[in-house]
Order: sequence, then C-alpha cells, then structure tokens
Amino acid sequence: MIPRKFEYLAPNTLAQALNMLRKYRDAKILSGGMSLIPMMKLRLVSPQYVIDINNIKGLSYIKMVGKTIRIGALTRHADIEHSPLIREKLPMLAEAAEVIADQQVRNLGTFCGSLAHADPAADWPANVLALDADMVIQGAGKRVVKASKFFKGPFETALKPTEILREVSIPIPDGPKVGQAYLKFERKAGDFATVGVASVLVLDKNNKIVRAGIGVTAVAPAPYKAVKAEQVLVGNVPSKELVEEAANAAAEMSDPSSDLRGSAEYKREMTKVFTRRSLKKALERAGVSI
Ligand SMILES: Cc1cc2nc3c(=O)[nH]c(=O)nc-3n(C[C@H](O)[C@H](O)[C@H](O)COP(=O)(O)OP(=O)(O)OC[C@H]3O[C@@H](n4cnc5c(N)ncnc54)[C@H](O)[C@@H]3O)c2cc1C
Repeated sequence: MIPRKFEYLAPNTLAQALNMLRKYRDAKILSGGMSLIPMMKLRLVSPQYVIDINNIKGLSYIKMVGKTIRIGALTRHADIEHSPLIREKLPMLAEAAEVIADQQVRNLGTFCGSLAHADPAADWPANVLALDADMVIQGAGKRVVKASKFFKGPFETALKPTEILREVSIPIPDGPKVGQAYLKFERKAGDFATVGVASVLVLDKNNKIVRAGIGVTAVAPAPYKAVKAEQVLVGNVPSKELVEEAANAAAEMSDPSSDLRGSAEYKREMTKVFTRRSLKKALERAGVSI
C-alpha cells in the first residue's frame, strides 16, 4: 500500500519541531518510523504533516545522572540492547530489547517512540511501569508524568498532540539485594507478546521485600502496573506461596481479549504463569532462593 500524500518536515532543533506541532495540528512525529510508516501505508493514519526528528542533535543517549538512568528520545532499541551501562544497572531492559521484533526493527525503532505509540502489546511499557520511571514530556514547557499515569488505553497516552516524549528517567533500583527480570511469552521469535511481565524486587539483609515493581503487557487494553501483586509482596519474606499469591493477584488485574494469540482464559492463565516465572527469576538474580 502507498500512504496518502503528506508533507515531510525535518527540523534541526527541538524548538522547531515543537513549533511545527503547534502550527500544523494534523501532524505526526517520526522517530524510528517502525510503527508510523506501516500505519500510514495501511492508511490507518494519514497525517497531513510528518515531522522527522532524526536531524535533531543530542536526543540519542543513555546516561547516568545521580541515581537515575536517562534515556533520550532517539535512543534505539539496539542501543539499549548493547549498552554496558544498561547491562550493569538495568539488565531487564537489555533482556527486553533482545526480544523486540528483529535486528532491523531494533536498529531503527526507538524506546520513546514505542512508549509514545503505546501499543497494548509492546514490551517497553511493562518495564517502565515496573521500574516506576518518569516520562519527561516537552511541549510549551516541560512536565514529568509517572509511567503509572502515562498509559491511558490502546494507543493512548498522557501526551498531548503538541508534545514530544523527550526523555525517560529511571530510578536505579538500589538495596542490599536487587533482582530484575523481563519475561516475554511469544508464539515465535520476533512476535509481539502473548503476555510479558517485568519484575523488580529489592530485599533487605533479612530477605524482606522492601520494594516490588511489576509491569504487565498484552493482556489488557493498556499495559498495567500490577499494584495488587506488589502489595502482596512488600513487607514479606518471599516463599513459593507468596509468589503464587502475587501471580494470582497480577492475573486478576488482567483483562485480555481472545484473538489469534489465544483465548482470554488462556491469556489470564499465562499471565499467572509468567508473573510467577518473572518473580522467581528476579529472586534468583537477587541471590534469594525459595
Ligand atoms: C515487524 C515489526 C515487529 C515488531 N515487533 C515488536 C515487538 O515484538 N515488541 C515491541 O514492543 N514492538 C515491536 N514493534 C514495534 C517497534 O518496536 C517500533 O519501533 C515502536 O513501536 C515505535 O517506535 P518508533 O521509534 O519506530 O516510532 P514511530 O513509528 O516513528 O512512531 C510511532 C508513533 O509514536 C509517535 N512518536 C514517536 N516518537 C515520539 C516521541 N518522542 N514523542 C511523541 N510521539 C512520538 C509517532 O508520531 C507515531 O504516532 C515491531 C515493529 C515491526 C515493524
């Protein structure tokens, strides 16, 4: 398919891009183009203007600032996959990047583009929810929205049409024992998730869980933070029974629909199984056996 006619704009600065968004209301930002271009070709979206932000310098970075990792708007999935800083501080993100699509898509698709696109089956949202990330949004001014308030529905976020997701700031999980994991259940390599579960656990010296973050994707109209499951875990010493209780709580919060990846009932069951496995992996990595 061929997209409808559109005007291509390539600003050199973020200020120019934001001015264009304000001036041309029927406009879309182009980052990696890995979702926008197919949607335009299928004529699911037909913006009058496409604002390509790839000429803007200084938007591609992964850096540590204090106790946070900052990821810039044009950072590609592959940058995250191969970053030594990410592998050291936020290994679950490298683990997630490895299972997104294929190498070609990972070379072009961006972390922020995927989050802004908010496909209900995308992998990054579960991770930023588990990690309690801050979404740094640039419009006329700058505002910061917690990941838990960012995803509103299928392909819907807190972003206004005149705003750009400029950066994501992620607090580095810190404590005596830390474990993280992202587990994705996919029908075949490179497919979107049937379910994906990201887990972050911080435990004290006595093995009590002091912080739990669980993000779930592909089994609800929007990715969700499994708050009830987190509450089950915090304040307790992990056991098989506790993990099972948390997995049940995460599955209870799901609201899957039946489609080519399985029935709603099957997906709810897989949410339980993959939450259990993801938590067990995080505990194993924290050096805690149950
Ligand atoms: C074959 C294939 C397989 C895939 N498999 C997976 C998978 O397994 N898991 C997965 O998670 N994803 C998968 N994807 C999606 C891929 O990860 C995309 O890269 C991602 O969804 C969009 O990122 P992008 O940078 O390409 O965004 P674009 O396509 O450029 O933009 C997507 C949308 O977000 C908006 N946008 C982009 N950047 C910003 C910004 N900084 N601020 C505000 N709005 C913005 C655009 O206007 C557009 O509406 C797949 C894609 C393909 C083509």
